[in-house]
Amino acid sequence: MTERAHAILKNVFGYDTFRPLQAEVIGNVLAKKDTLVIMPTGGGKSLCYQIPSMIFSGLTVVISPLIALMKDQVDQMQRAGVDAVMLNSALQTRDYRHNIGRIRSGKARLLYVAPETLMMQRTVDLLSDMTVDCLAIDEAHCISEWGHDFRPEYRQLVQIREKFPTAVCTALTATATPRVRQDIQTTLGFKHTDTYIGSFDRKNLFLQIVPKINPMVRIQRMIQKYPDQAGIIYCATRRQVDELARSLQDEGISALPYHAGLSDEKRRSHQERFIRDDTRIIVATIAFGMGIDKPDVRFVIHYDMPKNIESYYQEIGRAGRDGLPADCLLLFGYADVYKIKHFIQQKTTAERRIANIHLNAFLRFAEWQGCRRVPLLQYFGEATETDHCDRCDNCRGNKRERIDLTIFAQKFLSCVYRTGERFGAAHIINVLRGSKGQRVIQLNHHQLSTYGIGRDLSTRQWQTLSRQFLHQDLLIEDMDYGGFRLGPTAWEVLKSKKKVWGWMDDNPVEDRETPRPTPRKKAEIPDFDRDLFRLLKDKRKKIADQDNVPPYVIFADKTLMEMAAYFPQTEAGLYQIHGVGETKLATYGPAFLDMIRAYCRKQGISEKQKPTLKPVRKPARRIKKKRHETIGETFNAGRTLVELMEMFVVKRQTVLEHLYRYWCEGNPLDNHLDIPPKLTRQQTGRVFLLFEKHGIRRLKPVHDAMAGAIDYTSLAVLRLIFIAQNDLMANGETDP
Ligand code: ADP
Ligand code: ZN
Repeated sequence: MTERAHAILKNVFGYDTFRPLQAEVIGNVLAKKDTLVIMPTGGGKSLCYQIPSMIFSGLTVVISPLIALMKDQVDQMQRAGVDAVMLNSALQTRDYRHNIGRIRSGKARLLYVAPETLMMQRTVDLLSDMTVDCLAIDEAHCISEWGHDFRPEYRQLVQIREKFPTAVCTALTATATPRVRQDIQTTLGFKHTDTYIGSFDRKNLFLQIVPKINPMVRIQRMIQKYPDQAGIIYCATRRQVDELARSLQDEGISALPYHAGLSDEKRRSHQERFIRDDTRIIVATIAFGMGIDKPDVRFVIHYDMPKNIESYYQEIGRAGRDGLPADCLLLFGYADVYKIKHFIQQKTTAERRIANIHLNAFLRFAEWQGCRRVPLLQYFGEATETDHCDRCDNCRGNKRERIDLTIFAQKFLSCVYRTGERFGAAHIINVLRGSKGQRVIQLNHHQLSTYGIGRDLSTRQWQTLSRQFLHQDLLIEDMDYGGFRLGPTAWEVLKSKKKVWGWMDDNPVEDRETPRPTPRKKAEIPDFDRDLFRLLKDKRKKIADQDNVPPYVIFADKTLMEMAAYFPQTEAGLYQIHGVGETKLATYGPAFLDMIRAYCRKQGISEKQKPTLKPVRKPARRIKKKRHETIGETFNAGRTLVELMEMFVVKRQTVLEHLYRYWCEGNPLDNHLDIPPKLTRQQTGRVFLLFEKHGIRRLKPVHDAMAGAIDYTSLAVLRLIFIAQNDLMANGETDP
């Protein structure tokens, strides 16, 4: 049986190996045991019923609530050569009849159906004449009232099930807290032992949280990092969505807005354009995403803070479904946190409580200094294999040094105690910093022994410290009113029996060192020919438009990348490529082969053997350093421009060029350059704004915009300062 499954995996889908749990689930389903599958988005759930459907002699019925996705899935299956049909209320009568004919004749292997359609008597009648071997319930969390997306019609599936006693049932979902899981199991009467829970660790996602300073620059860098590829930017409000979409459009970037304030027609068309690669970027509120199965979204940016950890996870989950590396960037600003707190204050007591719990959990995640996957996965009840994933900013960045914070903790905690354990951070900090504010005086808190003992730190510094004390359980925050009480271990600290460790710097979160850029994972994508890739993409787009389907239904990006890496010239060679099964080989093989052959002839390239095992290791790094690397490292060690000019006997301009190149290759730059003395503050501020507007790759637009008032050498200095101050990150590629 499993041999059959393996053969189908290659012949039909063109994949070499199963993803984790797929083989086990398929085995279980084929053995006709009811199975619950919990895997994250992109984990490969569909295959778990698609492959059995090709092995069972009877029909497989897939229940799916999202009509929008149904067509996509049916298209994909048909392109792979599987006879799949759908029934739902959105179909035209003619198509409906046609599909029913295909089911009746026994040709269809897979039927996708909306729950309400399945519930209709005529559908039940139709199916009772057929053998149904498998009932697959997609988005199974809709069954549970505890889930975030409960649908009453899903409850009725229980009765429907009884009408197909010979069918095995499999329920699949990506969102399931233990409570929801339990609910699905009991509702459907599944055995506990037949539950398969995949890891929620999406290893290909790079997680990063950066300060929300110059957000436009951050966004542009991300867009530049993935030329011609798709991304989603989430904002909290419609207004922000519109504004951001417009500024991107003004920059000549293909971006469209999406939010509930747009007409249905507009929303549909914008979504469609995104899915079909007619537009690259969608700027959206959280209204966007449910019906999106686009596998090649390369980045998700959170312009504003997400609602809670769960929404964050859902939203970043829309990146990189195809398994290729993708970026998740959150722009984190304390101003946003205060805004949210302000909203929370206006809620009712009960709502306030829940909102505070969510906010705190999220802040804990955002301010976390260790591997980000640890708190994220913990939230879903999953332990991480290691506490160093190497795929998040904290694992890659130079970690801040932990220092002894005991004295600060003692000051803070005793101030909490002396003020009666009922005030929040803002007031405690006011007292510590000796504020003469009305409230402090009114409450007589200027008479306390802790008044003014914390003047040595800024308000900002105390705020981050207080958050760390909170995370370390030294403090407990009242979820209704935000006041602090002493936590379980606070007295040990106050009595100097326990030390407190943590981090402190001038600008919490803000000053984090630039994480090193992610090296491309060679095992995932080989180096490929960009020009050929672009040609292949154009070809794919043309075919997709002709057939009226999204491009990824024809071939995945990874498939095109492999074509552009191994240059297959024969059918046998093409069949080796990821995602090329027999049907696609026959349908699209000739067109793509023609294109590759022609390209190779012109360029004098010959076919490369695709390694069957692990790809060859990359050659050892060259030992000898290049000059700009030496200069960059010396600079980062604290040398000034003049010192570098003397040490390396070069002109100022040359040093600046070397440093810029050093940064372009993905290295961080230390922030110790001085602003050229002849420039006024106004001029400098204006240049920084212009960098945001025009980007930093070329200095000419800025030079021109300043009407030549600032020479290129000064601009080059300002550019480096801008980079260092804003913690900008390059692609790790030489600037083209
Ligand atoms: P889910 O339904 O769990 O979100 P999908 O079933 O849509 O995930 O699969 C996500 C992507 O991964 C799809 O593009 C699919 O073709 C691909 N995929 C699934 N299984 C494999 C596999 N074994 N090898 C390679 N790619 C796979
Ligand atoms: Zn990590």
